[in-house]
Amino acid sequence: MDIYNHPTFAMACQQFDLVADRLQIPAGDRDRLKYPKRAMVVTLPIHCEDGSTKVYTGYRVQHHLSLGPTKGGLRFHPDVTLGEVAALAMWMSWKCALTGLPYGGAKGGIACDPHRLPQCELERLTRRYTQEMIPFIGPQVDIMAPDMGTNEQIMAWMMDTYSVHMGYTVPSIVTGKPIGLGGSQGRREATGRGVAYLINRACDTIGLDLGQATVAVQGYGNVGSVAALALARYGAKIVAITDAFGGVQNARGLDLRKLDTHVAAQRTVAGFAEAEPITNEQLLVAPCDILVPAAMERQITGRNAANLKCRILAEGANGPTTPEADAILEQRGDVFVIPDILCNAGGVVVSYFEWVQDLQSFFWGETEVTDKLFRILENAFTQVVSHSRKQKISMRMAALCVGIKRVQEAKRVRGLFP
Ligand code: NAD
Repeated sequence: MDIYNHPTFAMACQQFDLVADRLQIPAGDRDRLKYPKRAMVVTLPIHCEDGSTKVYTGYRVQHHLSLGPTKGGLRFHPDVTLGEVAALAMWMSWKCALTGLPYGGAKGGIACDPHRLPQCELERLTRRYTQEMIPFIGPQVDIMAPDMGTNEQIMAWMMDTYSVHMGYTVPSIVTGKPIGLGGSQGRREATGRGVAYLINRACDTIGLDLGQATVAVQGYGNVGSVAALALARYGAKIVAITDAFGGVQNARGLDLRKLDTHVAAQRTVAGFAEAEPITNEQLLVAPCDILVPAAMERQITGRNAANLKCRILAEGANGPTTPEADAILEQRGDVFVIPDILCNAGGVVVSYFEWVQDLQSFFWGETEVTDKLFRILENAFTQVVSHSRKQKISMRMAALCVGIKRVQEAKRVRGLFP
């Protein structure tokens, strides 16, 4: 389908086709599983601070409706397109199925640079997008959450706009809200914490001592910063970090507390005094035991995969590794990959907890949330490792097989409608 033309969508389809061949999914089922059930494109005019009017484009893709409502993040980034959002929605479907959540995948986005927008314009844009989406969303239809460029405040505006329209407060319309508005304890930390938990499990699996390990992290936003801190608490040394504006390295380890103070003032890790500069390209191939891409898609490619030095590649970001890079890593056989749909699943798992708590108006403590999160991740990790070993296939192929098979089975027993 041409409307989804984008390298990231092509990549998600390429992954799907490899799994479909392996699972011998009949030709008639493939397009139904692959292409989104619904895709919306909306035009978003807002009044700017200077009195002008500016028009933005917003997207939402709901990938499948076979297992429950759809669930997925909202991304604010200048390069967001329908095809990218469709790929991210597809991955959300496999991720929810892998972790046993009662959702189909979804994703949304607005092509904008949130860091350059004044707060009042960011609020107008968020509210306008939510307004345009009202016919297509709902706590039993489609539930949004934060992703790149969005945060708790944006979720609060969305929840408020939807609630004003309904005439009563509807916390379950979004997850990743502030705790005071019905957000869950531990949601903000969930993705990064999950990444660190799974890295610890991967270390056990390959016999690497996490307490002695070195770590490089690409992206120092929600996922990257929380994962780095959690890994440092396990005793690992964080030796390099980059973000959209630059990067820093220190072979003796970066002091994350001081780095956070620098980031709070400068809004980037670049320029941190107790370190040397490093570029994104250099970080990916820097000597380290654990590499955590936690920014954009398609960072590890056919060009750099052969030069990776890490023993564990933990995909905090969605889609950071291309199928060409996967083939190289598989041939090398010396890098343990924790694939994105497993590695960063902590976010949607605790979003699910938040939705359940909102629907029941009954809230859990942080220990309960984290304990339940780790149990779900443990189960998914064990299943994927065991499937990968039994079938002699890569961790990515194993994770995708488990997820895709569940969605295929749901479609088979339900029939053609969803
Ligand atoms: P964020 O906006 O909080 O942070 C993104 C970080 O990446 C920032 O530090 C930014 O400067 C950096 N970045 C952006 N472009 C970059 C580039 N070209 N090179 C290097 N760094 C770059 O976003 P986030 O919520 O941390 O999401 C990061 C990734 O994790 C995305 O792929 C997202 O889809 C995925 N993810 C997020 C969650 C979640 O709960 N937030 C859950 C699952 C997956």
